[in-house]
Amino acid sequence: MSKKQKVYQYDGEGNFIQEYESCTKANFATGGNKDNRSKISRACKRGWKCRGFYWSYQKSEKLLKYQNQVTPPGTFTLPNILIFDIETSLIKCYTFGIWDVNIAHDNIIQDWFILGYSAKWLFDSEVMAEFVTHEEAIEADDKRVVEKLWTLLDKADIVIAHNGDKFDIKKTNTRFFYYNMVKPSPYQSIDTLKTTKAVFAHTSNKLDYLVKFHLDKCKDETSMKLWRDCMCGCPDSLAYMEKYCIKDSLILEEFYLKLRGWIKNHPNLGIHIDDDGIIKCNHCLHQVFQSAGYYVTSVNKYKSIRCLNCGGLAHLRKSEITVNQKAQILASNAR
Ligand SMILES: [Zn+2]
Repeated sequence: MSKKQKVYQYDGEGNFIQEYESCTKANFATGGNKDNRSKISRACKRGWKCRGFYWSYQKSEKLLKYQNQVTPPGTFTLPNILIFDIETSLIKCYTFGIWDVNIAHDNIIQDWFILGYSAKWLFDSEVMAEFVTHEEAIEADDKRVVEKLWTLLDKADIVIAHNGDKFDIKKTNTRFFYYNMVKPSPYQSIDTLKTTKAVFAHTSNKLDYLVKFHLDKCKDETSMKLWRDCMCGCPDSLAYMEKYCIKDSLILEEFYLKLRGWIKNHPNLGIHIDDDGIIKCNHCLHQVFQSAGYYVTSVNKYKSIRCLNCGGLAHLRKSEITVNQKAQILASNAR
């Protein structure tokens, strides 16, 4: 890359501000120094904000491709969107060896239970967390924790978890069932792992890797020893695990907000809002759109629009196919 390449500066809304002769010049002009002169070129390449601005090597009136704002919808109240993460215990069991072991269920001494959880409502500053106490850990008694988690899930309209569909939701349900609790009121699920697997080809789909790669964030270090110590009820270990779990919910929220425009079949937030005649983004409830071509199915065509807040795509439900055209269009046989 030539150091002389021009660079263009955009405000937080993506509006063009001005151009600079090079990244180095833009860096110094916006208060940077010698040590961080590559920051703006990284921001150009990655679509990151730097010093409160967006940067690009391309000039355009409005920078749309990097738009992924994280602001809550001002006009509307969001449905109850719960971000959560659980930590389960290890399973204690008998084994003859340690290599390539297959353990029958009747060799289980003590089955897994939920050590604790962290949860937060989207955009809320408070992170809720509940972990077993020293005595509860020794007794493998997660009833109090599970009951608190049930209350949150019962209140949620939508839940967000990484691998939630296969792990967090199913594990949680297992404990509800164990304690003879009823099913929480219906909620929809957003599994961030499902989207990353379906849409991208990352080297790893672990949240740890994804947030490091995309957000420059790190999860706290953990080890098997930490899990063993938690099961023995070590207060320091349980406190560390809780801190680790809280951080997980916070970074998951950040990752979800980056990801949401890409989520296919994202629960339609508009459904939760009373009729007011305003078109709202199904992903984030904002109301400013840009035309984005057409969404075409095998027999129909709709106007596609892009939300200028989250970057998500949606289409209007009114067909662009006229009655006459409809009569001329054939449909493929299903079998
Ligand atoms: Zn949106």
